[in-house]
Amino acid sequence: MSERPLRSVGSIVRYCGRALSLSWQTNASLTVAFGFFTVVAAVLPAGIAYVGKLIVDAVVQAQGRGDALRWVLVEGGLVVALLAAQRGLSACDALLRALLAERVNEMILEKAVTLELTQFEDSEFYDKLTRARREASSRPMAMVRRSFGLMQNVVSLVAFGTLLVGFSGYAAAVLVLAGVPSFLVEAKFSNDAFRLFRWRSPETRQQSYLESVLAIESYAKEVKLYQLAPLFLERYKNIFKRLYAEDRNLTLKRSVWGFCVGLFGTGAFYAAYAWIALEAVRGSISLGDMTMYLALFRQGQSAVAAALGAVGGLYEDSLYLSTLYEFLEQPSLGVARGTTTHGVDPKDGIRFEHVSFTYPGSSVTALEDINLHIRPGQKLALVGENGSGKTTLIKLLAGLYKPTSGRISIEGVDLAEWDPEVLRARIAVIFQDFVRYQLPVGENIGSGDVRYIGDEERQRVAADKGMAAPFIEGLSKGYATQLGRWFKDGQELSGGQWQKIALSRAFMREGADIVVLDEPTASMDAAAEYEVFERIKALTERQIAILIAHRFSTVRMADSIVVIERGKIIERGSHGELMEEGGVYAKLFGLQAEAYR
Ligand code: ADP
Repeated sequence: MSERPLRSVGSIVRYCGRALSLSWQTNASLTVAFGFFTVVAAVLPAGIAYVGKLIVDAVVQAQGRGDALRWVLVEGGLVVALLAAQRGLSACDALLRALLAERVNEMILEKAVTLELTQFEDSEFYDKLTRARREASSRPMAMVRRSFGLMQNVVSLVAFGTLLVGFSGYAAAVLVLAGVPSFLVEAKFSNDAFRLFRWRSPETRQQSYLESVLAIESYAKEVKLYQLAPLFLERYKNIFKRLYAEDRNLTLKRSVWGFCVGLFGTGAFYAAYAWIALEAVRGSISLGDMTMYLALFRQGQSAVAAALGAVGGLYEDSLYLSTLYEFLEQPSLGVARGTTTHGVDPKDGIRFEHVSFTYPGSSVTALEDINLHIRPGQKLALVGENGSGKTTLIKLLAGLYKPTSGRISIEGVDLAEWDPEVLRARIAVIFQDFVRYQLPVGENIGSGDVRYIGDEERQRVAADKGMAAPFIEGLSKGYATQLGRWFKDGQELSGGQWQKIALSRAFMREGADIVVLDEPTASMDAAAEYEVFERIKALTERQIAILIAHRFSTVRMADSIVVIERGKIIERGSHGELMEEGGVYAKLFGLQAEAYR
């Protein structure tokens, strides 16, 4: 604030406007009621002070008891009205707060689902998301509340000022000016507080990560066995201590400065008090006037303080809101959506032509000059060490990332030109880190095609193909059984059973003609894996199936095998051809066969 006051005022005004229009869109009638009560609550105090003067004057002039009592009744009425307005304000506040928090959270989530995978993997971006989410439920409402509060105090001040001018224009000026230093100090420290908040996003994120590792069931097993809890807890505490030390310094500085400038303001007010009292002693104003002016000053002082506090707070809110809008206005990367819904050459299958890919922010090429043609009906196996680039190839094919160079086409149409919806409906992928949804079994499978998420008939067919049907029938509530341990009566499955669920989920996509399995059977025994692939082969006769697996007994069932090493294809061919070639594949196959002997 100290550096660029005009810009700060501009940003307050802009974000006040945004917060108010958000509130209006969320619930117009509540917003109007809020405004109405605000004005009522703003005008009444001046009215009460004026009636107070009339009471005292009536008593002093002893015009008869009737007058004095009548004014007392009027004041009583005004006080009751003020009470009602204040109650109304807090009711509107509570209701609007809940609605607004929900609305903003929805906006954040709606934005989050339109973002690209790469954006989620970008830590700076993730910080933005975290900042936006953390403050989402409180800041916009705080801004609305403070805008109205400011309005209320300003209206009150105008009313007080109007009455005070009857005494002296200078007195009215003192009332307003005495608060300025407090305001400047307030604004400066709000700015510091915000900068602190922004800097420490990475640390707060680390803290919430540690929190989830310590408190979430799926981590509990490993954290206990490796006795990681004390270490993580210690780190968690250390981060807090560091953050707390910064907070404490800022809070202390803020308090000391606040007190000093507060003293100045109080001094000015008391000088004005003395002045009013002396004028009353001299008889130039009535006793009633004095009572009123003193009341005006006392209330005016708190209104000034509140208004200035609100401006400081508004500034802080506007800074936080700017991070929210920074997130909401983040462009989604994949703006250019394709529109093609049919391939030009349905018999062409999938082609990778000179495809290279480097993850954003990484210096290593994950894939280099990949050339690959997969015909409809072909069963392709990808073989290679961990980290050689197999999953990356799948992610490119699924359109989760765009190649850095080269071209991927399906049925002769570039991936980028395909309508993403159509493309996604045609590809069924199971990743090795597939999601174990804390949902009923049926929905876990049904989520493979959201249109039929609740269709038990289809779920049964898919479960049968994915070989999950036998154990699902044994579960207490069949397809309605809740999975996972997060919710009541949830049942946990074994790793292999979860994989069968994931496999069944992929089979929900009946229209998919490309099935991709990234080590979907790693948790199954060799016999089960063999059976799964026999089935997949039978069930996907006309479809393309791409498989990543480490057991060669399974890999050899594929028509075509591609060996990847450090992002490059080093061998390709059928099992027989590769064995004959006597290269890497043959060597690895020999090693595994020996181990089984
Ligand atoms: P594979 O599936 O063969 O085990 P991946 O395709 O997962 O291998 O990984 C290939 C390379 O890309 C590895 O060097 C890995 O470190 C890197 N990599 C994988 N995922 C990411 C990511 N999200 N961001 C940056 N680098 C990644």
